Amino acid sequence: MTTTTETGGSLDLLGIDSLLSAEELQLRSRVRGFVDSEIRPNIAGWYDTAVFPLEIVPKMAELGLLGMHIKGYGCPGRSAVEYGLAAMELEAGDSGLRTFVSVQGSLAMSAIAKHGSEEQKNEWLPRMAAGEAIGCFGLTEPTAGSDPGNMLTFARRDGADWVISGAKRWIGLASVAQVAVIWAMTDDGVRGFLVPTGTPGFKATAITQKLSMRASIQCDIELTDVRVPDTAMLPGAKGLRGPFECLNEARYGIIWGAMGAARDSYETVLAYAGERLQFDKPLAGYQLTQEKLVNMALEIAKGTLLALQIGRLKDAGQLQKHQISAGKLNNCREAIAICREARTILGGNGITLDYSPLRHAANLESVRTYEGTDEVHTLILGQHLTGIQAFR
Ligand SMILES: Cc1cc2nc3c(=O)[nH]c(=O)nc-3n(C[C@H](O)[C@H](O)[C@H](O)COP(=O)(O)OP(=O)(O)OC[C@H]3O[C@@H](n4cnc5c(N)ncnc54)[C@H](O)[C@@H]3O)c2cc1C
Repeated sequence: MTTTTETGGSLDLLGIDSLLSAEELQLRSRVRGFVDSEIRPNIAGWYDTAVFPLEIVPKMAELGLLGMHIKGYGCPGRSAVEYGLAAMELEAGDSGLRTFVSVQGSLAMSAIAKHGSEEQKNEWLPRMAAGEAIGCFGLTEPTAGSDPGNMLTFARRDGADWVISGAKRWIGLASVAQVAVIWAMTDDGVRGFLVPTGTPGFKATAITQKLSMRASIQCDIELTDVRVPDTAMLPGAKGLRGPFECLNEARYGIIWGAMGAARDSYETVLAYAGERLQFDKPLAGYQLTQEKLVNMALEIAKGTLLALQIGRLKDAGQLQKHQISAGKLNNCREAIAICREARTILGGNGITLDYSPLRHAANLESVRTYEGTDEVHTLILGQHLTGIQAFR
């Protein structure tokens, strides 16, 4: 399965494919084929016009990409490594498309699968796996991002109902979703609620003029006395542990996804440097270019090994939280550096949408920010190493 480029260089520098099973390789090649046929030919246009292609959702569902790691309720029940490989291929297409799969599967569906009642799971999970219903996950607020415990959205009891008021910001897919997982403070601490987006008082407005993640949707949500029955509350989520357990699922996918964006940038410029002549020689023939390519290939191989180790730990039920932070911090940091370096090899052509690296780099500004910023993951790791929390 090792790919070889026209320039003769192996794209799998360390033979990592030999660590994958036949089933894992098969799944990866199915998702890669989907990205080649459905995303690559269209992504420049979607990105340019800031469109999330809703028509791709049923195709992703058909491929088993929605709620991939969830077992039962019509979900595919694939392994963590398989989910990671799919995230890597999708993000090689575009982070915005991988983000859709993360928000739907790792955030919204995970919240229901982990914390929901049987009725909630039966009502939503099969439709969400089939792409017939879209979910979103509302945790961040205009004044509470890295510190969600400071949220102002409040749910108060009113007879048998809950009445939710507040505001959320940056909520992926909210304007096209049928159901929103809304995290709100109550007299009993943070709780999660399943809010059908047609409920009176729920308003989602897409954030425009973004310079990153242009082929995806993020929204401001206003919640004005949104009334839901008691059965809308997720019974299993009490306190911030509820949303954090879902964030860890999404962070896990990012560890793989970021390396997909990096790999696509590297492949793009490896091919370009082999063909582009300056001073009568291909750019790939210059030592300065080779150093760039070598550094990229090394970091991609290391980051992919890191993702695989974390995936194997997850599948074995042994993954610890600080290890997710290690993967997310390292792979986002390295991926963004690789994409920016790749852009330099493209010269002026690199600032157009004809080539992927600058689009990937711009997307990765979001990826390094959501699901815990670089700084937050550094603080988590710092606390793990020293035993001293430095968040406050
Ligand atoms: C494209 C995109 C999609 C998103 N999707 C969702 C979604 O679907 N659902 C959702 O709920 N949220 C979503 N988010 C929100 C995202 O999780 C937040 O943006 C993120 O948590 C950071 O919060 P903030 O933007 O408020 O920045 P802030 O928390 O204000 O941070 C600003 C800066 O301060 C730093 N900082 C914060 N605290 C400390 C500290 N203690 N020490 C040192 N530095 C610190 C941060 O690292 C950062 O560099 C999304 C964001 C983006 C950009």
